[in-house]
Amino acid sequence: MSNKVQVAVIGSGPAGYTAAIYASRAQLQTTVFAGYQSGGQLMFTTDVENFPGFPEGIMGPKMMMQFRAQAERFGTTMVDMQVTAVDLTTRPFKIWTTLPEGVDPQKLTDLTPAQQQELEANITANDPEYLADTVIISTGASPVKPGVPGETALSAKGVSYCAVCDAAFFKDKETFVLGGGDSAMEDALALAKFAKRVTVIHRRDAFKASKIMQERVLNHEKIKVLWNTTLEEIMGEQQVTNVRVKNKETGEEQVLPAQGVFIAIGHRPQTTLFINQINLDGHGYVVTRQSATVDGVVQAQAALTGGLVAYPTMTSVEGVFAAGDNVDVRYKQAITAAGQGCAAALDAERWLERNSSE
Ligand code: NDP
Repeated sequence: MSNKVQVAVIGSGPAGYTAAIYASRAQLQTTVFAGYQSGGQLMFTTDVENFPGFPEGIMGPKMMMQFRAQAERFGTTMVDMQVTAVDLTTRPFKIWTTLPEGVDPQKLTDLTPAQQQELEANITANDPEYLADTVIISTGASPVKPGVPGETALSAKGVSYCAVCDAAFFKDKETFVLGGGDSAMEDALALAKFAKRVTVIHRRDAFKASKIMQERVLNHEKIKVLWNTTLEEIMGEQQVTNVRVKNKETGEEQVLPAQGVFIAIGHRPQTTLFINQINLDGHGYVVTRQSATVDGVVQAQAALTGGLVAYPTMTSVEGVFAAGDNVDVRYKQAITAAGQGCAAALDAERWLERNSSE
């Protein structure tokens, strides 16, 4: 028999945990589907210096453990499993956590839409494990991969998507970071604590990162930058041994010794699970009535009641809300995600007061 919950929160970053704190404190039966690796992207961060309330900063993983403990204190149930299928077409909403044999849980978030559909076809023939009156989608985002030759084969053999997690393995090594945003700056600085040298490869002649992070990188004696340069190939048999890079202006290619290559070129919303279920924008972000995009404005317009947009965090499906990096095209901060999680829980609570399913 399926378990029934009032609020199902899918995802366990700052948005999901904050939604759970608010929903369970409002005495709603709340379950967080935290995934096999709970905590979201902050689990891969060291110091968080800009979340208000921590004047000395706090380590990302510690902060997420505290978010989780706070939600549990008010009675949230934590399910440390990945949601593998949802049916949001009728209420109560259906949620499956079945993992068919042979499917690697770590790879679930990398499935293509076709692979997800195939997985769902197997799973949804059986009863769902959970039924939910409302759903809050807070599945976050995952790293973008440049898709260069050697990247996949050498993943975890010198290629990493998380310097904060792996930097310590590269003591006195030659390392490279791809990207020019805040993530790349953060990765370069994290690596510089251990590595012999860090070379940032950036495709343009200026960074996109915030000024303060740029300055830290540009003034660091261990970090140099290859401007206007693309990463063409990651080379090596068992481990990364070299990178092939190309200067975009001169066309000149170089093969440089490398032991570590860190990819930091942005993130993609983890929303494959919701394709064909709710309205997603062209980049896969969930559209809510407060999305700062054309689709969001259209949805908001349709939800205007007495001069106010009803339930701003609601998606295109009544009773399904969304918060955090899977919605937020622009800010993607822990504090903005947490704020959206709070708003989604308040919207869900108010919506539940006026609507109920059998
Ligand atoms: P961004 O989208 O900000 O930056 C991505 C970078 O990667 C850009 O410089 C982009 O180049 C480059 N890039 C994108 N695709 C490719 C590709 N295929 N090949 C080579 N280079 C590529 O992503 P981030 O993850 O850095 O940051 C996301 C958000 O999170 C930002 O708002 C950021 O401020 C925030 N953040 C904040 C942190 C903090 O405050 N401590 C830490 C980390 C992130 P181009 O510049 O040419 O577009």
